[in-house]
Amino acid sequence: MAGCLKGSGWLTSLEFVNNKWGPEGLVKIKSVLSKEDLEEIFGRHILDVSWVNFSSYLHFIVAADKIFGRGDMEIVREAARYAAQVNLRGVYKIFLAVCTPSFFLNRVPRIWNTYYNVGILSVAESKKDKMIYHLAGWPDIPEYHEINHLSYLAEGARLAGAKNTKTFHNFCQRRGDTFCEYGIIWD
Ligand SMILES: [Zn+2]
Repeated sequence: MAGCLKGSGWLTSLEFVNNKWGPEGLVKIKSVLSKEDLEEIFGRHILDVSWVNFSSYLHFIVAADKIFGRGDMEIVREAARYAAQVNLRGVYKIFLAVCTPSFFLNRVPRIWNTYYNVGILSVAESKKDKMIYHLAGWPDIPEYHEINHLSYLAEGARLAGAKNTKTFHNFCQRRGDTFCEYGIIWD
């Protein structure tokens, strides 16, 4: 089975695009997507609990960036931040208000498989102003994965009080490494 994200993640991104560019924008994005992607994300009724191919999701949001953005992936980042705000504020609002960035980030590996049907996320290093994760078990992870994941995680950290977050992606399963290394640092 292809690597999938939970329907709720897809639906908030669809909402983000729809709020910004409306039905006409969606028509433009659909016009550049493959038949497989269209079938996966628009050819069926997707619920919060459905699984959605992560690759099709990324094709959709990268297409939005190419059509409406500057081609610098800022729209991919913005959509991930929006998803973090909607998803995390819904479920973890009170928790985020009282916890520290590292406390929040340390909990993410435990909920990873609620949001993805593949991959093992583990903490490689955790400090009060730094977190390093290893994401393994997803050798065919799609292109631009790190932009989505790191923007979401950094936004979660920001909601938990982190200032000036910066992210990095050192190793990558797409280059044959056994894991992707995701790092987040903040003040
Ligand atoms: Zn990677």
